[in-house]
Amino acid sequence: MAYVIEGRTGAWELVIGLEVHAQVISNAKLFSGAATDFGSAPNSQVSFVDAAFPGMLPVINRFCVEQAVRTGLGLKAEINLTSVFDRKNYFYADLPAGYQISQYQQPIVGKGVLDLDMPDGTVRTVGITRLHLEQDAGKSVHDQHPAKTFVDLNRSGVALMEIVSEPDLRSPEEAGAYLRKLRSILRYLGTCDGNMEEGSMRCDVNVSVRRSGEPYGTRCEIKNVNSVRFVMQAIEFEARRQIEVVEDGGKIVQETRLWDTTKFVTRSMRSKEEAHDYRYFPDPDLLPLVLEPAWVEGIKATLPELPDEKKKRFIDVYGLSPYDAGVLVADQERAAFYETVAKGRDPKIAANWVTGDLFGALNRSGKDIAESPISADALGGLIDLMADDTISGRIAKDVFAEMFETGKPAAAIVEEKGLRQVTDTGAIDGAIAAVLAANADKVAEFRSGKDKLFGFFVGQVMKQTQGKANPALVNDLLSKKLKE
Ligand code: ADP
Ligand code: MG
Repeated sequence: MAYVIEGRTGAWELVIGLEVHAQVISNAKLFSGAATDFGSAPNSQVSFVDAAFPGMLPVINRFCVEQAVRTGLGLKAEINLTSVFDRKNYFYADLPAGYQISQYQQPIVGKGVLDLDMPDGTVRTVGITRLHLEQDAGKSVHDQHPAKTFVDLNRSGVALMEIVSEPDLRSPEEAGAYLRKLRSILRYLGTCDGNMEEGSMRCDVNVSVRRSGEPYGTRCEIKNVNSVRFVMQAIEFEARRQIEVVEDGGKIVQETRLWDTTKFVTRSMRSKEEAHDYRYFPDPDLLPLVLEPAWVEGIKATLPELPDEKKKRFIDVYGLSPYDAGVLVADQERAAFYETVAKGRDPKIAANWVTGDLFGALNRSGKDIAESPISADALGGLIDLMADDTISGRIAKDVFAEMFETGKPAAAIVEEKGLRQVTDTGAIDGAIAAVLAANADKVAEFRSGKDKLFGFFVGQVMKQTQGKANPALVNDLLSKKLKE
């Protein structure tokens, strides 16, 4: 079912395209040797090039180019062996050169694809239009002085990859899935840390609405949204706003808007600038960037196994559902953790414990997998105790909680608390006899045909044994006793 928004006059479809600015992981800037560390003292990482002193010349950072190519390959995109750096001219206090070095008509990476893993297990393929390299601007700081604005140029010249999607997204959920998937791929590749709070991944959101089957409507662009949740909220709000305008007989004007994270509305920022407003032209300080095919092939050979391939392997090799496989591979560390747990064990049981109990406990305590109080080997140890019938699945849940709390190994907790499963038939028979004696009326009802009471007896016997009786044995012995 397609996602639509019901207006007063009928249903509307959403059309969304995202432009993501991803900060390249690199020790140095795109055209200078200055450092790129986040959170350093203002203006402590600025070279003469970054401050645009007259006569300074940019020198391309080979590693940043490699990172862009690696990302392009990860997005299964065309790598353009010749690309061109252009000047994008505009005036702003945090842009000392008066232009940004970017790529316009000849970007380093062309068309690619990104597969979205939707919650119902289906896959939606979204087109990537292009990826180009550009410099970041500095930062204007408005909140340090009542009457003055300060400029911090640490970010000036840091390499960004602008990754532009086709207008293929159709709902806030798809936009969210796109951003999460893109972030996951960038992290696997090691080309961007994907940290939206620190601004190393920022998103411009283009939204328009139309009647199903009609051509695309006029879009508005919401600038610099910095979390997946905000992107989804902004799309929803903006689409409703546009629908209202059109249904009231108005026209959408193409413009740049801002997402207000406290009022939950988008506000007009400026009318949309056109490409010709920027007077793009090839930067005369830089030659066209020409890549050797062998160099590109060399980078291709070092790509890691990416989320889609890993997901496919998890489905094929471990027999996991597409959903579980998708959850596990979203993060490289989580996937590696799972593989350690699954090694030599039942892969589906391992997946249930990792995605269910462990991820649940980590989420509740706000912990990352790297901070998990239970290591992969320790979780494997717990699963082994169930597999060899030392403990029941029911008791295992308690042991797990204790492990998460204390970091102790499963076997130690089981010994310490005497949680070993009772497989001694004599002991179980004793418990059964006690339960049947105490519930003579129910035994009579059961024997006269009230089968449903069986569960009640099982529950009582388990209670009698503090949950330690082997459930299969209890079932077995109990049904024999009741038939006597
Ligand atoms: P600009 O630089 O003007 O923002 P780009 O072509 O670089 O233009 O990016 C346009 C973005 O807007 C792309 O992500 C594209 O998918 C998206 N887009 C284009 N047309 C529409 C539309 N009618 N509705 C929604 N998004 C659109
Ligand atoms: Mg744009």
